[in-house]
Amino acid sequence: MYDGWGWHGGAQSPGLRFDLSESGQIERIEHGEPRAGDQCFDTLMPGAVNPHVHLELGPLAKSPGHFVDWLRSVIEARFAPGAEDPSLIAERNLSEALGFGYTSFCEIDSVGAGAAALAGRGLRARSDLELIGFDQDSLAAAANCDRRLATAQDALEIGLSPHAPYSVSAALFAEAGRRKLPLSIHVAESPEECEFLRTGTGPFRVLLEELGRMPPSWEPSGLLPTMELDRHGLLGPRTLLVHMQEAEASELELAARRGAALALCPGTIEYFGRSAPPLGRMLELGLRVVLGTDSLASNERLDPRSELRRATQLFPDLSAAQLLPMCFAGAGAALSLPVGRLAPACVFDAIALPGVAPLAEGPRAASEWFIHSDAPITAIWCAGRRLWGS
Ligand SMILES: [Zn+2]
Repeated sequence: MYDGWGWHGGAQSPGLRFDLSESGQIERIEHGEPRAGDQCFDTLMPGAVNPHVHLELGPLAKSPGHFVDWLRSVIEARFAPGAEDPSLIAERNLSEALGFGYTSFCEIDSVGAGAAALAGRGLRARSDLELIGFDQDSLAAAANCDRRLATAQDALEIGLSPHAPYSVSAALFAEAGRRKLPLSIHVAESPEECEFLRTGTGPFRVLLEELGRMPPSWEPSGLLPTMELDRHGLLGPRTLLVHMQEAEASELELAARRGAALALCPGTIEYFGRSAPPLGRMLELGLRVVLGTDSLASNERLDPRSELRRATQLFPDLSAAQLLPMCFAGAGAALSLPVGRLAPACVFDAIALPGVAPLAEGPRAASEWFIHSDAPITAIWCAGRRLWGS
């Protein structure tokens, strides 16, 4: 069995018995002889945890290579006449992600459709309500937060996602921080973002002017993007930073010192042809790094094994056994959710796979077996309920 951090005992389920509470929480795990009537599965693992996904976004019609043009296309696609209903997109994306083995998510929610889909399936997940408003003063920022929080789904954990330093005003960042909720923030993603914060010029200024969102009196802080977040008190153990592709060593050190976690998205790195971030150095600094899919606007599927396969190529110095928890227990811990682990006090979200992990060859071989296997998942449980599988 894989427990979310490592492989233990036999990989197979015979003899493993899970006592669950009414709500699907694991109370006790017993190891014994299989009994008649037990269900047996070749390999049992926790459901994978996707710490960064936008379920409401679908694939773009064309793929603009440049990041700011890509952003323009995402905005256009959302508001285009005849654009598909985000509820349908979110339901379809969620079904696909479940089929690939994700059972928990931190979803960046723009219009409520992703959160409704997650709540409708009874998943233990987090919905980080997206906040955008580069031209918002403190009154508008407070109203924006109130408006978004009024749409929150009671069944989900709730966080906020002030989108990025080029799309959120200082007042809106400050207001998001005041709400004392978990945060997801895209930061230091592109050289253009760094340029904009340093000098106030470049493609982001052009985009904001096009959108009519550039306040005439705005002055750049001159800070590095992560320092900009820190200025508003936004870095802490409940903050999940996303991408940090362009982060300088001092930004990584600061994020680690503040206890923030970092979601890397290998599919997005590949989509934009970016170089591999210095993951080894990040881990040495004590930064908690996890792997997300981002959206189908920059990834072809929402599949933990795809992200892990890409990660083994991007980060050849790390073993499969080091990378695997970044989609399981490590991701659950970064979200402060009891998911991604088969252990007492955690939610029984699990997946079964055909074939037996080669545990006798060590955790590295067992992890590689999972990452490189393309065998379909044979059963999925969410909060103790069998979602599907025979
Ligand atoms: Zn994102």
